[in-house]
Amino acid sequence: MAFYDLIVVGAGALGTFHAYHAARAGQRVLLLEKDAYPAGATVRNFGQVVPSGLAGRWFDYGRRSLEIYKAIQQETDLTVRANGSVYIASDADELALINELHDRYVSVGYPCELLTKARCLAQYPALQPDYVLGGLYFPDEVSVEPEQMVHRLIDYICQKYKVTYQSGSAVIDCQSNYNGAIVTLAGPRQTNRQRFQADRLLLCSGHEVRLLFPDIFADADLIISKLQMLMTEPMPDVALRGNILTGLTIRRYESFRECPSYAGLTTPDYLAELKQWGIHILFKQATDGSFIIGDSHEYAPATRVEDLGYHTQAHINRLILNEARRIVRFPVEPIRKEWAGFYSQTDKEIFEYDVDEHIRIITGIGGKGMTSGAGYAEASIRQWLGVAV
Ligand SMILES: Cc1cc2nc3c(=O)[nH]c(=O)nc-3n(C[C@H](O)[C@H](O)[C@H](O)COP(=O)(O)OP(=O)(O)OC[C@H]3O[C@@H](n4cnc5c(N)ncnc54)[C@H](O)[C@@H]3O)c2cc1C
Repeated sequence: MAFYDLIVVGAGALGTFHAYHAARAGQRVLLLEKDAYPAGATVRNFGQVVPSGLAGRWFDYGRRSLEIYKAIQQETDLTVRANGSVYIASDADELALINELHDRYVSVGYPCELLTKARCLAQYPALQPDYVLGGLYFPDEVSVEPEQMVHRLIDYICQKYKVTYQSGSAVIDCQSNYNGAIVTLAGPRQTNRQRFQADRLLLCSGHEVRLLFPDIFADADLIISKLQMLMTEPMPDVALRGNILTGLTIRRYESFRECPSYAGLTTPDYLAELKQWGIHILFKQATDGSFIIGDSHEYAPATRVEDLGYHTQAHINRLILNEARRIVRFPVEPIRKEWAGFYSQTDKEIFEYDVDEHIRIITGIGGKGMTSGAGYAEASIRQWLGVAV
């Protein structure tokens, strides 16, 4: 049986960034992924790295994540593009919120700039003039290509930091013993199942809560969110660069909830159905010119994820596309791909649970994992392993 300092189960953003930081600190790390390649939330998202939308310590982790993404990008192409983020306000309430957020970020030294309507349209000519009242621009924020980033990160940590990565390796059992933890992988014959031992084991299984420690997860109050996403055909002639976040996002993201006028915010009638489905409209142009457009939010307890259905709903897609048409001037159809993404979340910011002194569970980072996961994982490894990272 092979021995490691740390075994990480789950090669999404959370697991892989934990593996990265531990290996950088000199730990011998084994990263195990049940699928042939990661196919969870980490590859199904927009790839927007937007600390501006986060609050509290998650904003700080997001800022640190920007530095980490940019530092790794200096060494290998992680698909990081430094095109900034912009929030587009479409009415007076949203305009008030972006002004208030601007003032707060100026006071903490986070670079941002208010854009007039004319500046928004000059910088983003693909926007519908009727939609735009003003914008708030964050020049330091970046985006990544979600379908590629984590695979490249895994290659990088294996080559540079000698992480051992094994995909197609579903962990079906984790046990502590007197000198660490042992994992058992699914395999054809019980007598012949692969086992690995490490001083410590970290489970970052995303929204998979039934294979391992089901009793703990049953009591964890985790909620699964299902998001519908769409991708257009490539439109290389349309330039709408960076992370584009719009009015409903201003009405939704945590950072705006801390602004003084948020408490008095009301929902206009024409947005009521969109809010009911948790819809807010984001755009992210991929390198081939196609646009990812989304998203919606439906919720179920983590132990009842099947209640969210295996299908995407045409009605939700129509609502997303109709609102997108109010915002941009280019044709948002035909749609090339549509999919659903799932993540786990909790009302306690993240789910961190020590099974015992050797085994820790971390999941439930919600919709902020691509933005804050790299910085959070650094602090997490530092605290848990007591190593300098
Ligand atoms: C549609 C969508 C859009 C989003 N957009 C953004 C965005 O633009 N910006 C942002 O910051 N965040 C975004 N998010 C959130 C972000 O994607 C998640 O927070 C993040 O990817 C969660 O990472 P994770 O590692 O916890 O989970 P996952 O990516 O789901 O990874 C968990 C991994 O664990 C593996 N696993 C589970 N059980 C086992 C086992 N027993 N053995 C071995 N392997 C196992 C799974 O196969 C999986 O690969 C979005 C999410 C979705 C769904």
